[in-house]
Amino acid sequence: MPELIYPLDSNKSFIDQEKIGHNRWHPDIPAAATVKPGDSFRVHCREWFDGAIHNDDSADDIRDAPLSTVHVLSGPFAVEGAEPGDLLIVDILDIGPIPQEDSGPLAGQGWGYTGIFPTNNGGGFLTEQFPDAYKAIWDFRGQTATSRHIPGVSFTGIVHPGLMGTAPSAPLLAKWNRREGALRATDPERVPPLALPPEPSDAVLGTLTGPEFDRIAAEAARTAPPRENGGNQDIKNLTKGSRVFYPVFVPGAKLSVGDLHFSQGDGEITFCGAIEMGGFIDLHVDLIKGGMETYGVSENAIFMPGNTDPQYSEWLAFSGISVTLDGEQRYLDSHLSYQRACLHAIDYLTKFGYSPEQAYLLLGAAPIEGRLSGVVDIPNSCATVYLPTAIFDFNVQPSASGPVRINAGPGAPRSPMIS
Ligand code: ZN
Repeated sequence: MPELIYPLDSNKSFIDQEKIGHNRWHPDIPAAATVKPGDSFRVHCREWFDGAIHNDDSADDIRDAPLSTVHVLSGPFAVEGAEPGDLLIVDILDIGPIPQEDSGPLAGQGWGYTGIFPTNNGGGFLTEQFPDAYKAIWDFRGQTATSRHIPGVSFTGIVHPGLMGTAPSAPLLAKWNRREGALRATDPERVPPLALPPEPSDAVLGTLTGPEFDRIAAEAARTAPPRENGGNQDIKNLTKGSRVFYPVFVPGAKLSVGDLHFSQGDGEITFCGAIEMGGFIDLHVDLIKGGMETYGVSENAIFMPGNTDPQYSEWLAFSGISVTLDGEQRYLDSHLSYQRACLHAIDYLTKFGYSPEQAYLLLGAAPIEGRLSGVVDIPNSCATVYLPTAIFDFNVQPSASGPVRINAGPGAPRSPMIS
């Protein structure tokens, strides 16, 4: 096992740990540890809500989830010799749930969760159709996930970090705040918001305190979006064996990681669509000096996905085009096309006995593939969503005899929105 450089005690909250991580992006957050090029090391990660979501049959914790506290990240880790303009090579050597024999109270200890976030607390890809909070608990047995809230399916996890990235430089951070602020200003009252401004309350910035903390908390960017530094990209294929090349914007690169997922479908559509968990990740780092210029990677990481994904060979796919549910024609709107493809898949699965929410949660969590199949055929783009047929323990294909009705149980727990 590589040296554990960032341990977490499951019985303590994020801010009471031996090493304190962070939940905002800023170049001046001090490094939690320093590594050298060529080093391999282990890092523990809290699940992104630091234990606020429980293994029970109520969705109240999703409805009331404290969004100002996320994402709790491990790091930053300084890499000796890294300078702006370099590419940081990060190999994911291994990744998994919290290594512990008994199941426990924290996601990652034998279980994880998927949430549909309500419109007034985060929302999601299909928030107009699904405004209320729902939750599904998933149990892990080895590599396999099953849920008492979504019977009739089991699948192999595609374990990956939802969030990993390097620290922004001060000018890059200022650029983020400018452009996201300008977007927000176009509709400041929108629910859910168009973008999240810096939020000092609940900010965790490593060991910083006092006036320095206040200055940085007022400037630091939220962790929700993916940006030039990587960040919350939610790429399900960043699994074991992946190699990522991150641009370096500050001395030491300051790599951070968190938001581990046991599995996720392309798009992570319910907002917290993945199976969220805490766990460990083993990383190896190295540098390509001056690599940003050499390879034209001035922003946004490039990567080589791992080859340990679950191998599904048969799929049932649904397509959607850029026409709204009200019949309005939109011009090559691939976001809308993917929404329509997902809604078609949800409608289909309800014919087998699932509630629409169970189907929506399943599309978020299972290793479904999403594709932009056509983006040029005016006026309709075509997006597709592929469901692996083998995850269902019944025949999910259309046939002349009609769909089998499964016993889908009481469904996923719901908590209506409070306005
Ligand atoms: Zn996540």
